[in-house]
Amino acid sequence: MNMFRHLALAGVLITLSTTGFAASPLPRFYGDAPDNHHPWTIHDPNRPQPAVVTPGTFSTQEQPGKPPSDAKVLFDGTSLSKWEADEGVGIPTKWIIKNGAMECVPGSGFIRTKETFGDCQLHVEWAAPTKVEGESQGRGNSGVFLMGLVEVQVLDNFNNPTYADGFASSVYGQHPPMANALRPSGEFQVYDIVFRRPIYRGGKLIDPGYVTVFVNGVLVQDHAIIEGVTGHMARTKPAPFPDQGALKLQDHGNPVRYRNIWYRELPPRIVEGSTDGYLTTSATLAKRKQIAASIRADAATLKNDADILPEMLRWMESLVYEKNSEASKRVKQLSGQYVASLKDLAPDKLAAKKNEVKSVRDAFRYLAKFKILSENYAAKAALEQIVKDQGWDKKQP
Ligand code: MG
Repeated sequence: MNMFRHLALAGVLITLSTTGFAASPLPRFYGDAPDNHHPWTIHDPNRPQPAVVTPGTFSTQEQPGKPPSDAKVLFDGTSLSKWEADEGVGIPTKWIIKNGAMECVPGSGFIRTKETFGDCQLHVEWAAPTKVEGESQGRGNSGVFLMGLVEVQVLDNFNNPTYADGFASSVYGQHPPMANALRPSGEFQVYDIVFRRPIYRGGKLIDPGYVTVFVNGVLVQDHAIIEGVTGHMARTKPAPFPDQGALKLQDHGNPVRYRNIWYRELPPRIVEGSTDGYLTTSATLAKRKQIAASIRADAATLKNDADILPEMLRWMESLVYEKNSEASKRVKQLSGQYVASLKDLAPDKLAAKKNEVKSVRDAFRYLAKFKILSENYAAKAALEQIVKDQGWDKKQP
Protein backbone atom coordinates (compact mmCIF):
# COMPACT_ATOMS: atom_id res chain seq x y z
CA MET A 1 0.00 0.00 0.00
CA ASN A 2 1.57 3.29 -0.99
CA MET A 3 1.72 6.35 1.24
CA PHE A 4 -1.01 8.25 -0.58
CA ARG A 5 -3.43 5.36 -0.38
CA HIS A 6 -2.62 4.98 3.29
CA LEU A 7 -3.36 8.66 3.98
CA ALA A 8 -6.53 8.52 1.94
CA LEU A 9 -7.92 5.59 3.87
CA ALA A 10 -7.17 7.23 7.19
CA GLY A 11 -9.33 10.25 6.40
CA VAL A 12 -12.76 10.76 4.92
CA LEU A 13 -12.83 10.59 1.18
CA ILE A 14 -15.14 12.78 -0.79
CA THR A 15 -15.01 12.61 -4.51
CA LEU A 16 -16.11 15.98 -5.83
CA SER A 17 -16.19 16.33 -9.56
CA THR A 18 -16.72 20.10 -9.39
CA THR A 19 -13.44 20.66 -7.58
CA GLY A 20 -11.40 18.36 -9.75
CA PHE A 21 -10.76 15.70 -7.13
CA ALA A 22 -12.60 12.98 -8.99
CA ALA A 23 -9.44 11.37 -10.30
CA SER A 24 -7.42 11.70 -7.08
CA PRO A 25 -9.56 12.01 -3.98
CA LEU A 26 -7.81 13.65 -1.05
CA PRO A 27 -8.50 13.02 2.64
CA ARG A 28 -10.76 15.47 4.45
CA PHE A 29 -11.63 15.85 8.16
CA TYR A 30 -8.10 14.59 8.71
CA GLY A 31 -5.31 16.95 9.87
CA ASP A 32 -5.43 19.53 12.66
CA ALA A 33 -8.04 22.24 12.07
CA PRO A 34 -7.22 25.89 11.29
CA ASP A 35 -6.35 28.07 14.29
CA ASN A 36 -5.58 31.74 14.91
CA HIS A 37 -2.38 31.68 12.85
CA HIS A 38 -3.02 28.96 10.27
CA PRO A 39 -5.96 29.40 7.88
CA TRP A 40 -5.59 25.90 6.42
CA THR A 41 -5.89 22.50 8.04
CA ILE A 42 -2.81 20.29 8.15
CA HIS A 43 -2.70 18.43 4.79
CA ASP A 44 -5.57 20.61 3.57
CA PRO A 45 -7.03 19.30 0.28
CA ASN A 46 -8.45 22.79 -0.39
CA ARG A 47 -5.03 24.42 -0.35
CA PRO A 48 -3.99 25.36 -3.91
CA GLN A 49 -1.73 22.98 -5.76
CA PRO A 50 1.80 24.26 -6.57
CA ALA A 51 2.20 25.69 -10.06
CA VAL A 52 3.78 23.29 -12.51
CA VAL A 53 7.21 24.42 -13.74
CA THR A 54 9.19 22.39 -16.24
CA PRO A 55 12.80 22.48 -15.04
CA GLY A 56 15.61 23.58 -17.33
CA THR A 57 18.99 21.96 -17.83
CA PHE A 58 22.40 22.64 -16.34
CA SER A 59 25.09 24.49 -18.24
CA THR A 60 28.46 23.13 -19.32
CA GLN A 61 31.50 25.27 -20.12
CA GLU A 62 30.74 24.75 -23.79
CA GLN A 63 27.02 25.35 -23.67
CA PRO A 64 24.56 27.29 -21.51
CA GLY A 65 21.69 25.30 -20.02
CA LYS A 66 17.99 25.82 -20.68
CA PRO A 67 16.00 28.06 -18.29
CA PRO A 68 12.94 26.66 -16.47
CA SER A 69 9.61 27.10 -18.24
CA ASP A 70 8.42 30.10 -16.22
CA ALA A 71 11.71 32.04 -16.43
CA LYS A 72 11.89 35.48 -17.98
CA VAL A 73 14.91 35.37 -20.20
CA LEU A 74 17.01 38.55 -20.16
CA PHE A 75 19.90 37.33 -22.30
CA ASP A 76 20.04 34.16 -24.39
CA GLY A 77 23.31 34.86 -26.19
CA THR A 78 21.77 36.32 -29.33
CA SER A 79 20.47 39.82 -28.62
CA LEU A 80 20.83 42.85 -26.34
CA SER A 81 17.24 43.92 -27.09
CA LYS A 82 16.30 43.66 -23.40
CA TRP A 83 19.20 45.92 -22.38
CA GLU A 84 20.26 49.55 -22.61
CA ALA A 85 23.05 51.80 -21.39
CA ASP A 86 22.66 52.99 -17.82
CA GLU A 87 22.93 56.60 -18.94
CA GLY A 88 19.28 56.94 -19.90
CA VAL A 89 16.14 55.39 -21.32
CA GLY A 90 16.59 54.06 -24.85
CA ILE A 91 20.32 54.75 -25.08
CA PRO A 92 21.92 51.67 -26.64
CA THR A 93 24.73 50.01 -24.72
CA LYS A 94 28.22 49.78 -26.16
CA TRP A 95 28.68 46.30 -24.65
CA ILE A 96 29.10 43.71 -27.40
CA ILE A 97 28.05 40.14 -28.12
CA LYS A 98 30.85 37.66 -28.83
CA ASN A 99 30.45 33.89 -29.14
CA GLY A 100 27.08 33.82 -27.40
CA ALA A 101 28.17 36.03 -24.49
CA MET A 102 27.79 39.75 -23.86
CA GLU A 103 31.05 41.43 -23.03
CA CYS A 104 31.74 44.60 -21.11
CA VAL A 105 33.55 47.19 -23.18
CA PRO A 106 35.70 49.01 -20.61
CA GLY A 107 34.76 52.65 -20.28
CA SER A 108 31.28 52.19 -21.77
CA GLY A 109 29.48 52.24 -18.41
CA PHE A 110 26.99 49.94 -16.70
CA ILE A 111 24.45 48.02 -18.74
CA ARG A 112 20.89 47.68 -17.40
CA THR A 113 17.69 45.83 -18.22
CA LYS A 114 14.88 47.81 -19.81
CA GLU A 115 12.40 46.00 -17.58
CA THR A 116 12.32 46.52 -13.84
CA PHE A 117 11.55 43.91 -11.21
CA GLY A 118 11.94 43.25 -7.50
CA ASP A 119 12.02 39.94 -5.63
CA CYS A 120 13.41 37.22 -7.84
CA GLN A 121 15.36 34.06 -8.38
CA LEU A 122 18.12 35.23 -10.69
CA HIS A 123 20.47 33.10 -12.77
CA VAL A 124 23.62 34.71 -14.18
CA GLU A 125 26.71 33.15 -15.70
CA TRP A 126 29.90 35.15 -16.07
CA ALA A 127 33.52 34.64 -17.07
CA ALA A 128 36.55 36.77 -16.29
CA PRO A 129 39.13 37.18 -19.07
CA THR A 130 41.18 34.05 -19.71
CA LYS A 131 44.33 36.17 -19.82
CA VAL A 132 44.91 36.97 -16.15
CA GLU A 133 45.72 40.63 -15.59
CA GLY A 134 45.72 42.78 -12.46
CA GLU A 135 45.21 41.73 -8.87
CA SER A 136 42.81 42.11 -5.97
CA GLN A 137 39.86 44.28 -7.07
CA GLY A 138 41.54 44.95 -10.41
CA ARG A 139 41.16 41.42 -11.84
CA GLY A 140 38.00 40.53 -13.71
CA ASN A 141 35.85 42.99 -11.75
CA SER A 142 32.20 43.54 -12.59
CA GLY A 143 29.05 43.19 -10.52
CA VAL A 144 25.45 42.02 -10.50
CA PHE A 145 23.43 44.95 -9.14
CA LEU A 146 20.05 43.73 -7.92
CA MET A 147 17.46 46.43 -8.62
CA GLY A 148 20.53 48.48 -9.52
CA LEU A 149 21.16 48.95 -5.78
CA VAL A 150 22.60 45.83 -4.15
CA GLU A 151 25.83 44.51 -5.64
CA VAL A 152 26.64 40.83 -5.65
CA GLN A 153 30.31 41.13 -6.54
CA VAL A 154 31.72 39.66 -9.72
CA LEU A 155 35.51 39.30 -9.44
CA ASP A 156 38.16 36.87 -10.57
CA ASN A 157 39.19 35.59 -7.15
CA PHE A 158 40.73 32.36 -8.43
CA ASN A 159 44.13 32.51 -6.65
CA ASN A 160 43.54 36.23 -6.13
CA PRO A 161 43.05 37.43 -2.56
CA THR A 162 41.22 40.66 -1.80
CA TYR A 163 39.31 42.10 1.16
CA ALA A 164 36.72 39.50 2.20
CA ASP A 165 33.67 41.76 1.95
CA GLY A 166 34.61 42.55 -1.63
CA PHE A 167 35.11 38.95 -2.76
CA ALA A 168 33.33 37.40 -5.70
CA SER A 169 29.73 36.72 -4.54
CA SER A 170 30.06 39.01 -1.54
CA VAL A 171 27.17 41.35 -0.90
CA TYR A 172 29.66 44.14 -1.50
CA GLY A 173 30.89 45.77 1.69
CA GLN A 174 28.35 43.84 3.80
CA HIS A 175 28.70 40.06 3.64
CA PRO A 176 31.75 38.04 2.54
CA PRO A 177 30.80 34.75 0.88
CA MET A 178 31.02 31.66 3.11
CA ALA A 179 33.31 29.98 0.55
CA ASN A 180 35.36 30.71 -2.55
CA ALA A 181 33.81 28.30 -5.04
CA LEU A 182 35.19 29.85 -8.22
CA ARG A 183 36.44 27.93 -11.21
CA PRO A 184 39.73 28.94 -12.90
CA SER A 185 40.01 32.30 -14.65
CA GLY A 186 38.30 32.37 -18.01
CA GLU A 187 35.77 29.62 -17.18
CA PHE A 188 32.09 30.39 -16.82
CA GLN A 189 30.92 30.77 -13.22
CA VAL A 190 27.26 30.26 -12.33
CA TYR A 191 25.48 32.54 -9.86
CA ASP A 192 22.04 31.51 -8.62
CA ILE A 193 20.66 34.30 -6.47
CA VAL A 194 17.49 34.56 -4.38
CA PHE A 195 16.73 38.21 -3.75
CA ARG A 196 14.15 39.60 -1.36
CA ARG A 197 14.22 43.38 -1.42
CA PRO A 198 13.92 45.51 1.74
CA ILE A 199 10.27 46.47 2.31
CA TYR A 200 9.28 49.81 3.77
CA ARG A 201 5.80 51.09 4.44
CA GLY A 202 5.31 54.77 5.16
CA GLY A 203 9.05 55.14 5.62
CA LYS A 204 9.12 52.36 8.23
CA LEU A 205 11.14 49.16 7.77
CA ILE A 206 8.82 46.13 7.57
CA ASP A 207 11.32 43.52 6.35
CA PRO A 208 15.05 44.17 5.79
CA GLY A 209 15.33 41.94 2.73
CA TYR A 210 17.74 39.08 2.10
CA VAL A 211 20.19 37.71 -0.42
CA THR A 212 20.96 34.01 -0.89
CA VAL A 213 23.64 33.04 -3.40
CA PHE A 214 24.92 29.78 -4.81
CA VAL A 215 28.19 29.91 -6.77
CA ASN A 216 28.63 26.95 -9.08
CA GLY A 217 26.11 25.11 -6.90
CA VAL A 218 27.85 25.96 -3.61
CA LEU A 219 25.92 27.99 -1.01
CA VAL A 220 27.88 31.16 -0.25
CA GLN A 221 25.23 33.60 1.04
CA ASP A 222 22.56 32.17 3.31
CA HIS A 223 19.62 34.55 3.60
CA ALA A 224 22.07 37.41 4.32
CA ILE A 225 20.30 40.49 5.65
CA ILE A 226 20.50 43.53 3.37
CA GLU A 227 21.72 46.51 5.36
CA GLY A 228 20.92 48.96 2.58
CA VAL A 229 22.27 50.03 -0.78
CA THR A 230 25.79 48.62 -1.18
CA GLY A 231 28.66 51.05 -1.67
CA HIS A 232 32.41 51.53 -1.69
CA MET A 233 34.34 52.52 1.45
CA ALA A 234 31.38 54.10 3.23
CA ARG A 235 28.97 52.03 5.32
CA THR A 236 25.44 52.62 4.05
CA LYS A 237 22.49 53.24 6.29
CA PRO A 238 19.14 51.51 5.83
CA ALA A 239 16.75 53.68 3.83
CA PRO A 240 13.47 53.12 1.96
CA PHE A 241 13.72 50.96 -1.16
CA PRO A 242 11.59 51.12 -4.27
CA ASP A 243 9.54 47.99 -5.13
CA GLN A 244 11.29 47.45 -8.46
CA GLY A 245 14.43 48.43 -10.29
CA ALA A 246 16.49 47.49 -13.33
CA LEU A 247 19.09 44.74 -13.05
CA LYS A 248 22.48 46.31 -13.75
CA LEU A 249 25.83 44.79 -14.64
CA GLN A 250 28.92 46.78 -13.77
CA ASP A 251 31.63 48.15 -16.00
CA HIS A 252 34.65 48.16 -13.71
CA GLY A 253 37.16 48.41 -16.52
CA ASN A 254 37.52 44.68 -17.24
CA PRO A 255 36.09 42.81 -20.26
CA VAL A 256 33.97 40.40 -18.20
CA ARG A 257 31.55 38.23 -20.22
CA TYR A 258 27.99 37.21 -19.32
CA ARG A 259 25.62 34.57 -20.69
CA ASN A 260 22.36 32.77 -19.86
CA ILE A 261 20.69 35.45 -17.74
CA TRP A 262 17.15 34.81 -16.57
CA TYR A 263 14.93 35.36 -13.56
CA ARG A 264 11.75 34.06 -12.02
CA GLU A 265 9.46 36.38 -10.10
CA LEU A 266 8.90 35.34 -6.50
CA PRO A 267 5.51 35.34 -4.78
CA PRO A 268 4.84 38.03 -2.18
CA ARG A 269 5.89 37.58 1.42
CA ILE A 270 3.43 37.37 4.31
CA VAL A 271 4.17 41.04 5.20
CA GLU A 272 2.96 41.88 1.69
CA GLY A 273 -0.28 39.92 1.99
CA SER A 274 0.68 36.33 1.19
CA THR A 275 -1.63 33.91 2.97
CA ASP A 276 0.61 30.86 2.71
CA GLY A 277 2.25 30.56 6.09
CA TYR A 278 2.10 31.60 9.74
CA LEU A 279 -0.17 34.66 9.71
CA THR A 280 -1.39 37.32 12.10
CA THR A 281 -4.72 36.53 13.73
CA SER A 282 -6.61 39.10 11.68
CA ALA A 283 -5.05 37.89 8.39
CA THR A 284 -5.80 34.29 9.39
CA LEU A 285 -9.46 34.99 10.14
CA ALA A 286 -9.87 36.96 6.91
CA LYS A 287 -8.41 34.06 4.92
CA ARG A 288 -10.54 31.50 6.77
CA LYS A 289 -13.63 33.53 5.87
CA GLN A 290 -12.58 33.50 2.22
CA ILE A 291 -11.90 29.75 2.18
CA ALA A 292 -15.21 29.02 3.93
CA ALA A 293 -17.14 31.18 1.45
CA SER A 294 -15.66 29.33 -1.52
CA ILE A 295 -16.45 25.93 0.02
CA ARG A 296 -20.03 27.03 0.78
CA ALA A 297 -20.40 28.21 -2.82
CA ASP A 298 -19.16 24.80 -3.94
CA ALA A 299 -21.48 23.00 -1.52
CA ALA A 300 -24.47 24.78 -3.06
CA THR A 301 -23.55 23.37 -6.47
CA LEU A 302 -23.57 19.80 -5.10
CA LYS A 303 -27.27 19.77 -4.30
CA ASN A 304 -28.62 16.40 -5.42
CA ASP A 305 -31.71 14.83 -3.87
CA ALA A 306 -30.64 11.36 -5.06
CA ASP A 307 -27.36 11.60 -3.13
CA ILE A 308 -27.22 14.21 -0.39
CA LEU A 309 -23.90 13.06 1.07
CA PRO A 310 -21.40 15.09 -1.03
CA GLU A 311 -23.32 18.30 -0.36
CA MET A 312 -23.69 17.55 3.35
CA LEU A 313 -19.98 16.78 3.82
CA ARG A 314 -19.01 19.92 1.92
CA TRP A 315 -21.18 22.14 4.15
CA MET A 316 -19.64 20.37 7.16
CA GLU A 317 -16.20 21.05 5.76
CA SER A 318 -16.93 24.77 5.43
CA LEU A 319 -17.61 24.94 9.18
CA VAL A 320 -14.00 23.94 9.83
CA TYR A 321 -12.95 27.39 8.58
CA GLU A 322 -15.83 29.58 9.73
CA LYS A 323 -19.05 29.35 11.71
CA ASN A 324 -21.96 30.27 9.48
CA SER A 325 -25.68 30.04 10.14
CA GLU A 326 -26.63 28.92 6.63
CA ALA A 327 -24.02 26.16 6.67
CA SER A 328 -25.08 25.04 10.16
CA LYS A 329 -28.70 24.94 9.04
CA ARG A 330 -27.92 22.88 5.95
CA VAL A 331 -25.78 20.42 7.94
CA LYS A 332 -28.60 19.98 10.43
CA GLN A 333 -31.22 19.40 7.73
CA LEU A 334 -29.11 17.12 5.55
CA SER A 335 -27.66 15.08 8.41
CA GLY A 336 -31.18 14.57 9.76
CA GLN A 337 -32.27 13.31 6.34
CA TYR A 338 -29.19 11.13 6.07
CA VAL A 339 -29.75 9.43 9.42
CA ALA A 340 -33.45 8.92 8.58
CA SER A 341 -32.54 7.34 5.25
CA LEU A 342 -30.23 4.88 6.99
CA LYS A 343 -32.94 3.89 9.42
CA ASP A 344 -35.25 3.06 6.50
CA LEU A 345 -32.77 0.64 4.94
CA ALA A 346 -33.17 -3.11 4.93
CA PRO A 347 -30.41 -4.82 6.96
CA ASP A 348 -28.45 -5.99 3.89
CA LYS A 349 -28.58 -2.52 2.30
CA LEU A 350 -27.39 -0.95 5.56
CA ALA A 351 -24.58 -3.51 5.85
CA ALA A 352 -23.39 -2.48 2.38
CA LYS A 353 -22.97 1.08 3.66
CA LYS A 354 -20.68 0.14 6.53
CA ASN A 355 -17.61 2.02 5.29
CA GLU A 356 -19.56 5.08 4.23
CA VAL A 357 -21.40 5.37 7.54
CA LYS A 358 -18.21 4.94 9.53
CA SER A 359 -16.52 7.67 7.43
CA VAL A 360 -19.38 10.08 8.01
CA ARG A 361 -19.35 9.24 11.72
CA ASP A 362 -15.59 10.00 11.70
CA ALA A 363 -16.26 13.36 10.04
CA PHE A 364 -18.63 14.27 12.91
CA ARG A 365 -16.01 13.03 15.40
CA TYR A 366 -13.48 15.33 13.73
CA LEU A 367 -15.81 18.32 14.04
CA ALA A 368 -16.42 17.48 17.69
CA LYS A 369 -12.70 17.04 18.40
CA PHE A 370 -12.02 20.59 17.17
CA LYS A 371 -15.14 21.93 18.95
CA ILE A 372 -16.81 22.88 15.67
CA LEU A 373 -19.93 20.82 16.45
CA SER A 374 -20.87 19.46 19.86
CA GLU A 375 -20.00 15.99 21.12
CA ASN A 376 -23.75 15.41 21.46
CA TYR A 377 -24.70 16.61 18.00
CA ALA A 378 -27.83 14.69 17.00
CA ALA A 379 -26.53 13.11 13.77
CA LYS A 380 -23.23 12.19 15.44
CA ALA A 381 -25.02 10.46 18.29
CA ALA A 382 -27.30 8.63 15.86
CA LEU A 383 -24.40 7.43 13.70
CA GLU A 384 -22.40 6.32 16.76
CA GLN A 385 -25.45 4.30 17.80
CA ILE A 386 -25.81 2.65 14.37
CA VAL A 387 -22.12 1.72 14.30
CA LYS A 388 -22.39 0.31 17.82
CA ASP A 389 -25.59 -1.63 17.11
CA GLN A 390 -24.08 -3.14 13.97
CA GLY A 391 -20.85 -4.03 15.75
CA TRP A 392 -18.86 -2.24 13.02
CA ASP A 393 -16.15 -1.00 15.39
CA LYS A 394 -15.42 -4.45 16.72
CA LYS A 395 -12.03 -5.82 15.75
CA GLN A 396 -12.30 -8.52 13.11
CA PRO A 397 -11.20 -11.90 14.53
MG1 MG B 1 32.26 45.05 -8.78
